[in-house]
Amino acid sequence: MDHFHLRDGELACEDVPLAAIAREAGTPVYVYSSATIRHHARVMKAALEPLGDPLIAFAVKANPNPAVLAILADEGLGADIVSIGEYRQARTAGVPPERILFSGVGKTAEEMAEALAGGLCQFNVESIEEAGTLSQVAVASGLDARVGLRINPDVEAGTHAKITTGTADSKFGIPAADALEAFRAVSRLPGLKVQGITVHIGSQLTDLKPLEAGFRRVGELIAALRDEGIAISLADLGGGLGVPYEPGEPAPPTPAAYGAMVARVTSGWGIRLAFEPGRLIVA
Ligand SMILES: *Cc1c(COP(=O)(O)O)cnc(C)c1O
Repeated sequence: MDHFHLRDGELACEDVPLAAIAREAGTPVYVYSSATIRHHARVMKAALEPLGDPLIAFAVKANPNPAVLAILADEGLGADIVSIGEYRQARTAGVPPERILFSGVGKTAEEMAEALAGGLCQFNVESIEEAGTLSQVAVASGLDARVGLRINPDVEAGTHAKITTGTADSKFGIPAADALEAFRAVSRLPGLKVQGITVHIGSQLTDLKPLEAGFRRVGELIAALRDEGIAISLADLGGGLGVPYEPGEPAPPTPAAYGAMVARVTSGWGIRLAFEPGRLIVA
């Protein structure tokens, strides 16, 4: 649902004709609807809040516009960021540190140090090598870094190859088969506090089945880690829910259907959940 509509044959955003914006601001110009963005955030919150007190962290790469981030911060969303630039933008927009997840395969030591000093919920670490760098940064700064390990569950997401991230040959995350060994290794590194497990299998997903398969894999790993005495307190299930781009396209699964699937799969996990919707909020 959105607030872009034809009024007397003229396209308007909420109550403002786009032609009036073009006259005042010039073109090209990007026009965002705060009512639409708030609506999307609220629908997602309504779908996920029955799951306890989830952290819903907007994937900033989907739209880093400062005004958009401020609206989402005001709605209580956190931020999933992949660079220190995005970290600063999220903080400036009013996102509290405890709602920030630092994802991404390209974190530098400098970026890690700044985010660690500024505060965050956790670093989503993509490889053992990255955990080693973060450990050195944490020790040097005298602060413990909370980390979640990104697992690659090796499921086909059924979306475009360039936005598929959960197959074994992907550069993202630690292959599920190596996950236990990776958790053991990272738990031994000084300066790190392993608290999370995270997964994100791709974007523009129009079928819940691959998501469900990935989440089941996460559930198995949480149980196996508990057996080893590695306590996981946060399961970050990523983003990826698709949106319709053209009229007449089959409707993607609703946030409510997604929430119901997550509730079914995660019942009994007994830990806090996090989500990283991007496209769904702002597309
Ligand atoms: C891109 C991305 C997201 C958001 O994906 P959407 O399909 O926009 O919901 C969330 N988490 C990670 C790690 C991502 O790379």
